[in-house]
Amino acid sequence: MNIEPTPWIWYNDRLVPWDEARVHVFAHALHYGSSVFEGLRAYATPRGPAVLCLGPHVRRLFDSCKVYRMPIPFAPEEIRQAILETIRANALTSCYIRPLVFRGVGVISLDPRSCPVEVIIGTLAMGNYLGEEGVQEGIDVGVSTWQRIAPNTLPAMAKIGGQYINSQLAVMEAHDRGFSEAIVLSSAGMVSEGSGANVFLVKDGVVCTPPPAASILPGITRACVMQLARDLGTEVREEMVTREMLYLADEVFLTGTAAEVTPVRSVDGIPVGQGRRGPVTARLQEQFFGIARGQLEDRFGWLTPVPVNGWRNG
Ligand code: PMP
Repeated sequence: MNIEPTPWIWYNDRLVPWDEARVHVFAHALHYGSSVFEGLRAYATPRGPAVLCLGPHVRRLFDSCKVYRMPIPFAPEEIRQAILETIRANALTSCYIRPLVFRGVGVISLDPRSCPVEVIIGTLAMGNYLGEEGVQEGIDVGVSTWQRIAPNTLPAMAKIGGQYINSQLAVMEAHDRGFSEAIVLSSAGMVSEGSGANVFLVKDGVVCTPPPAASILPGITRACVMQLARDLGTEVREEMVTREMLYLADEVFLTGTAAEVTPVRSVDGIPVGQGRRGPVTARLQEQFFGIARGQLEDRFGWLTPVPVNGWRNG
């Protein structure tokens, strides 16, 4: 997904023009990965743009910073408002939203705590991250030779910039092998997640996904899909998943803010089920996209409208 400039970036409490949102080459984060970020989406609805799961994303941003001991110099409500303000200022009807908290210029030392904590919020145009065809037909994934970060190496529940080197290694390898996405196993050899998405399988009508103990990022889309599936009367289990359980599943799909709900049609070249999107995945997609796009009732309170005519009034 190439980056297309938008007029404004929110930078430490004010909107600055795109070209002025710069950092110094000695920013700590650039050298040591000392940043925390989120990814959200705003969808175009018949009543204007609306952010999906604004509250949970901002909460996870603060939680990640807590784990990494990086205090955000703003209150959660200020960050929520700043996200809405940035979308409004850029006059976007739908977009991907990237809040990033990072350590700026201070010391050249591995204890970053004397470096200032800076915050930016940017908005980008984004279609289907894994491709429109993938959302309909399913994608091909492969199990990575790289392992997911282990609990005693890096904290998987926190969305810390430097940790994404692990995801980058896995996804580069997957692309070189002709797969759209990697599936990464935990250090214990169990299925963890994708490089930037959670994984689900469906077997005999039961929906199953690895638990936090499998070194996953507890995805917000994952929580939405679990809520939807249960609401539709489907049994949902958080359970350890082995590699071959993916091969033998009736359906496999990935979830994520960027990945949305994307079916998987093969794992390691082995077709999953019928080798195309299955009925449970299709039903969950229909509900997920229906609510996100404002075509179905927002029965779980997932959407926050972006006030377009004078923010803070809406
Ligand atoms: N796992 C990883 C490693 C991710 O980067 C993401 C994307 N944030 C996810 C899972 C999915 O999380 P969410 O549904 O909150 O976007």
